[in-house]
Amino acid sequence: MRIFTASLATETNTFAPLPTDRLAFEETAYFPPGTHPETPTLCSAPVVAARRLRRQGHTVIEGTATWAEPAGLVGRAAYGSLRDEILNQLRAALPVDVALFGLHGCMVADGYDDCEGDLLSRARAIAPEAVIGAELDLHAHLSEAMVNAADVVVAFKEFPHTDFLARAEDLVRLCVATAEGKVRPVPAVYDMRRIGGYMTSREPGRSFTDRLLALEGHGGILSASIVHGYQAADVYDMGMKVLVYGDGDGVHAGAVAQALAHEILSWTPDQETPHHKPAAAIDKAVAIRGQPVVLADRWDNPGGGVAGDSTVLLRALLDRPDVPAAIGAMWDPIAVKLAAAAGAGARLHLRFCGKATPQSGEPVDALVQVRSVSDNLLIPFEQSVVSLGAAACISIGSLDVVLASTRAQTFSPEAFTRMGIDLRQKKVVAVKSSNHFYAAFAPLAADVLYVDSGGPYPPDPRRVTYNKLRRPIAPLDPEPIAARGLLSLPARPR
Ligand SMILES: [Zn+2]
Repeated sequence: MRIFTASLATETNTFAPLPTDRLAFEETAYFPPGTHPETPTLCSAPVVAARRLRRQGHTVIEGTATWAEPAGLVGRAAYGSLRDEILNQLRAALPVDVALFGLHGCMVADGYDDCEGDLLSRARAIAPEAVIGAELDLHAHLSEAMVNAADVVVAFKEFPHTDFLARAEDLVRLCVATAEGKVRPVPAVYDMRRIGGYMTSREPGRSFTDRLLALEGHGGILSASIVHGYQAADVYDMGMKVLVYGDGDGVHAGAVAQALAHEILSWTPDQETPHHKPAAAIDKAVAIRGQPVVLADRWDNPGGGVAGDSTVLLRALLDRPDVPAAIGAMWDPIAVKLAAAAGAGARLHLRFCGKATPQSGEPVDALVQVRSVSDNLLIPFEQSVVSLGAAACISIGSLDVVLASTRAQTFSPEAFTRMGIDLRQKKVVAVKSSNHFYAAFAPLAADVLYVDSGGPYPPDPRRVTYNKLRRPIAPLDPEPIAARGLLSLPARPR
């Protein structure tokens, strides 16, 4: 068989003031055909997973794979040029039996609210007979255009996203089996009419996800994905949906999708993850036996498209000089440059962070000591390696701050340890991450607390003005029970 793979992905926060141009892709991760490394970069996992098919005698043709750190709206020219680059590669690869795309599912470009639906529809027009598959992040806006254009869509199941390669392998296996005529995926989508989500690192999400995994491959269910949606985007399709593929049987798939959706809808508010205000979170951490206690600055997570330079939690830590702490990685390329110029061991008056948005707090002015500098701070995230760019660690009393010149989530303790910080000596370690940090930090943490610093990511959808979002939807409207249900998808004969 001939299999084409490519990847085009970012997560667009339509409220973020950080434009995404082509350079943002080229600087984060841009791999022309055949140059993708052995390890996947989150959404490019299908490219890596497809390579294994070569060992089974299949021909795998790689297109471009690219990913931009989440930020604001993607420029029309940037999206158009990258999309057409990949579609031209698909055209040149014809005939293909299978086309596999590593996407995110919530990429929004100027003029394109549903980039993935647009890309997959165009791919379908180019390769009408091919089996088309796509992997999505679970923070996707699942659209009818995506489901209609693709034969199989598989989303990550885990939040934190520890399973991007495992789900890519599911996608490859299902698409090849479909092309071989061994299975016939028929989709069902249940629209929960809810803005929400859950973590799989805690209950009830953990055991629910274990049962979801156990469901697949039995009783005619080929694949089951829960799409959480991404509330920092004003698009029609945002919200929670369940996508199930039955083997030749959409009715059974629909019943399973509905049952899964109703289970999630039955969870009560007290089962949601508690969030603490910064000062209260530090007090709570101090009261916990053992150290370090990890505080997640959830709403200043660069992976959510914001800057990662909010000083709200940093200032709360500065107010507690009695608490040995570290915070990172905070985005400030100018401060990194100044600290590097001063050099390790130097003391200087530095203004840093709090510059990107009014919701990022005020910049901090302090006499700091440069503890260490790095030309390129690399940290692992599951099977991938992430660059924080040039970095500096500065100290103010017993508080260490890791400053980075490239926006990326604080996925792992190496963001601190590679800058010379011994986390065992810290009572509090604050990370700029939503939950992706969890798997790597949990083994060394006495506890993990989630902090609500108020922004700049919009934490409360009730306080966001959505103009394009399909209504009614909870919690913006009274429980839209009558609007919930299965989408009617057109049958596509194969
Ligand atoms: Zn995500």
